[in-house]
Amino acid sequence: MKVLKFGGTSVGSADRMREVAELVTRPGRKIVVLSAMSGTTNSLVEIANYLYKKNYDGANEVINRLERGYLNAVEELYAKEDFKHKGLELVKSHFDYIKSFTKDVFTVFEEKSVLAQGELITTALFNFYLQEQGHDSVLLPALDFMRTNKNNEPDTGYIRENLERILSEYPDTPIFITQGYICRNAFGEVDNLQRGGSDYTASLVGAAINGEEIQIWTDIDGMHNNDPRYVDKTQSIANISFDEAAELAYFGAKILHPTSVLPAKIANIPVKVLNTMDPDAEGTTISSSQHKNRLTAVAAKDGITAIKITSGRMLLAFGFLRKVFEIFESYKTPIDMITTSEVGVSVTIDNNRHLEEILDDLRKFSTVEVDYDQVIVCVVGDLVAENKGYANRIFDALKEIPIRMISYGGSEHNISLLINAKDKKDALQALSTKLF
Ligand code: ASP
Ligand code: MG
Repeated sequence: MKVLKFGGTSVGSADRMREVAELVTRPGRKIVVLSAMSGTTNSLVEIANYLYKKNYDGANEVINRLERGYLNAVEELYAKEDFKHKGLELVKSHFDYIKSFTKDVFTVFEEKSVLAQGELITTALFNFYLQEQGHDSVLLPALDFMRTNKNNEPDTGYIRENLERILSEYPDTPIFITQGYICRNAFGEVDNLQRGGSDYTASLVGAAINGEEIQIWTDIDGMHNNDPRYVDKTQSIANISFDEAAELAYFGAKILHPTSVLPAKIANIPVKVLNTMDPDAEGTTISSSQHKNRLTAVAAKDGITAIKITSGRMLLAFGFLRKVFEIFESYKTPIDMITTSEVGVSVTIDNNRHLEEILDDLRKFSTVEVDYDQVIVCVVGDLVAENKGYANRIFDALKEIPIRMISYGGSEHNISLLINAKDKKDALQALSTKLF
């Protein structure tokens, strides 16, 4: 069985939903994971922010706008009156539920329920559409099997068991539809896998059913070897390894959610990134096979802050790094890049929420310098130590760009460099010109 995931833009209008229906009704048994129609989750976040502030006029305005969008989609999507009616009733019932929060207390708990509505509505409408077209499909409620544990990590045992149990009730059904992004947490409450988490759902579902393939359908022809928003003439990559794809996704390639590679990698299920606008194009296959002797792609991650921590006491001392890392850990702030010298260490973070507290704590035993507006440029490829000359080519490409940090050898697939945000476009362009 395959898993096919379609993002918000792929189901963003009645027309787009029809195109997706064409794709999912091709032969083969499958589970289809859908995001909410594009823009929905952003609007739901906006609604929640108004509700926290008890700004009911603000909330109602966004609620009504969003509801109108869904009502229009229903009018356009279905041909038959009874399906139009079913669709309208469904949309109304979900929006009545959202509106009920304008009359009551609003906490994180209610917020999560509001955020779940987009995927719930979109999948139900899509399933009605398949049924109107005479297809045999079943809606699988993600809230019945997708669950996180106390550490907010997917509870893979629970997911597998429950998915298996539910699927076994429909041995002859060819098409299952389910919601991306939403789940229950360890307390059974409605929760989610973080923004953009539908890719993660697809990967977790693929791993749970030991699927034959996970397809991530977007609106570009696979993963590219550089960022097409900044560089012209980027190329689609036909084959890439799980490790390379994970690094790219983490370091800025927007096409895949960074968490989504790991479950597929562990279960060794190939992931294909495909284009709804050009469904028969080859796209990108992510698998365990590593293309030898190749620099594969470049990505960049914005909004990075670099912190240089120096101390005379680091010289020949042990325990210094532990002290530094404990501070970041206590503020739950992940470190992206690290470089060390005998007298200091530089680290980067992408979340400045606790920066001031972190700096205060570090200053108790060291001198601290901070650089804002930095970018991590990450080059992935077959970068095992035996492969000579690749680092040289990368630095040669970047010879006009000031480099703040360099990290190499952390894995066999990546060289990361920290540069100023203003040099990003030039750096990406220079790398594309010299490397590919
Ligand atoms: N709808 C959710 C979001 O916008 C999940 C997703 O699209 O992957 O974040
Ligand atoms: Mg996405």
